[in-house]
Amino acid sequence: MSRLLIIGAGGVGRVVVYKCAMNRHVFKDIMLASRTKSKCDQIAADVLKQVGGEPIETAAIDADDVPALVYLIKEYKPQLVLNVALPYQDLTIMDACLATGVHYMDTANYEPKDEAKFEYSWQWAYQDRFKDAGLMALLGCGFDPGVTSVYTAYAAKHYFDEIHYLDIVDCNAGDHGKAFATNFNPEINIREITQKGKYYENGEWIEVEPHSIMKPLNYPDIGPKNSYLIFHEELESLVKNFPSLKRARFWMTFGDEYLTHLRVIQNIGMSRIDPVLYKGVEVIPLEFLKYVLPDPGSLGENYTGQTSIGCRIRGIKDGKEKTYYVWNNCKHQDAYDETGAQGVSYTTGVPAMIGAKLILNGTWKGTGVFNVEQLDPDPFMKELNEQGLPWHEAFDVDLEL
Ligand code: NDP
Repeated sequence: MSRLLIIGAGGVGRVVVYKCAMNRHVFKDIMLASRTKSKCDQIAADVLKQVGGEPIETAAIDADDVPALVYLIKEYKPQLVLNVALPYQDLTIMDACLATGVHYMDTANYEPKDEAKFEYSWQWAYQDRFKDAGLMALLGCGFDPGVTSVYTAYAAKHYFDEIHYLDIVDCNAGDHGKAFATNFNPEINIREITQKGKYYENGEWIEVEPHSIMKPLNYPDIGPKNSYLIFHEELESLVKNFPSLKRARFWMTFGDEYLTHLRVIQNIGMSRIDPVLYKGVEVIPLEFLKYVLPDPGSLGENYTGQTSIGCRIRGIKDGKEKTYYVWNNCKHQDAYDETGAQGVSYTTGVPAMIGAKLILNGTWKGTGVFNVEQLDPDPFMKELNEQGLPWHEAFDVDLEL
C-alpha cells in the first residue's frame, strides 16, 4: 500500500490532505510537512475531526534545503512526494526525489525568486535524470495547469483529428468581501499577473502589454465578464505537445476594482522583487506586501459565488470544422463546507490528489518528466466527476473567440 509525502501546508495543501484522507484505499499513509509545523498540525486535526480515519503525520521541513529533504524522505519512505509549497521549491524537491528514488509531482512550474519568469526549461532539463533513475516527475497537476491540460488532451483524443485554436478561459466570479485579496499566495499571484501578456500564433510567441487585450466573455451560470489575455504556463507545454495548434491563448477575468489596486501596487513600487534597505534591513517590497494582505486561506468562510474554468477549442473532424467547450463550475461555499478552503484552493487541490492517486495506483506510469496532457486523460476525467469537480461539455457552440 502507498505512502504519500505532501509538502506545503497552505490553502492547496489543506485541500490535498482532505481529499487524500477521503481516498484512503489508495493513500494508506499520509504525511504533511511544511515550513511551519503548527499549520500542518491544524490541518491534520481538522481532517481527523471532519473526515476521520488514521491520523495524518506531520513534520517541519525547509524545502529549500536538499539534505533536510533527503533526510525526511529517507525517514518516512514515501513512494511519491507531492509538492504544493511554492514554485521556488520545485528544483530542490526534485533533487531530493532523485537522491532518494521517489516519484515527484507539483502544481506550478519553477520560477527563480529573483526573477519573475516562469517557464518549463528548468524542470524539463531533469528529463534524462528521472528517466535514468526509473522515476516519474509529473508537472503542473492543479486546475490550470492540470485540468485544462487534461481537457485539451481529452478533446484531441475523442473529438478532433486536429485541434487548431485553443482558448483557456478562467473566471472567478466570487466575492470574498475584501477590498483587495489574492486567491492564492499573493507573492506568486502578483508576479504572475503583472507580467506581459503572451500568446502563441502561427509558430510565434507574441508579447503584449499587461492587460492590454480584453474581451467580455460569457461564462455558464455566471454571464458576461471582462476577460484579459495573460500568459499562463500550460500554453508552453500544450503548444509543444499539440503541434497542430495554430493559436493558443489564456484569458482570466479581473474586476475593475482589482485592476485599480494592482495598478496602484505597481505604481508605488510595492510589486518590486529587488531588495530595498529599510532602517538597515533589506526588505523585498512584494514579500512584505504578502504579510499585510489577507491570507488567501482565510477568505473561505464568507466567500460567495463560483469559479468557471474551461477550454474553448476549434479544430477539424472528418474534414469539417468543429467547436467544443468543456468546463467546470465550482462554488466557493461548497468547497469551504467540504474542506475549509475556498474554491481556488479546492480546484487546485482536488486535481493534485487525483494525479497522485493515478500514479500510486499504477494507472499513470512512465519514466522521465511529464506534463499532464502527455498521459491518458480518460481515467482523470472519470475521477474529476467522482471527486467534486464535475465537468460539462458543449459541441458546435459559438466560442466567442
Ligand atoms: P500558500 O502560500 O497558501 O501555501 C504555501 C505553503 O508552502 C505554506 O504553508 C508555506 O509555509 C509553505 N512553504 C513555503 N516555502 C516553504 C519552504 N521553503 N519549505 C517548506 N514549506 C514552504 O500557497 P497555496 O496553497 O495557495 O499554493 C500552493 C501552490 O499551488 C503554489 O505553488 C501555487 O503556485 C500553486 N497553485 C497552482 C494552481 C493551479 O491551478 N495549477 C492554482 C493555485 C495555486 P508557511 O506557512 O510557513 O509560509
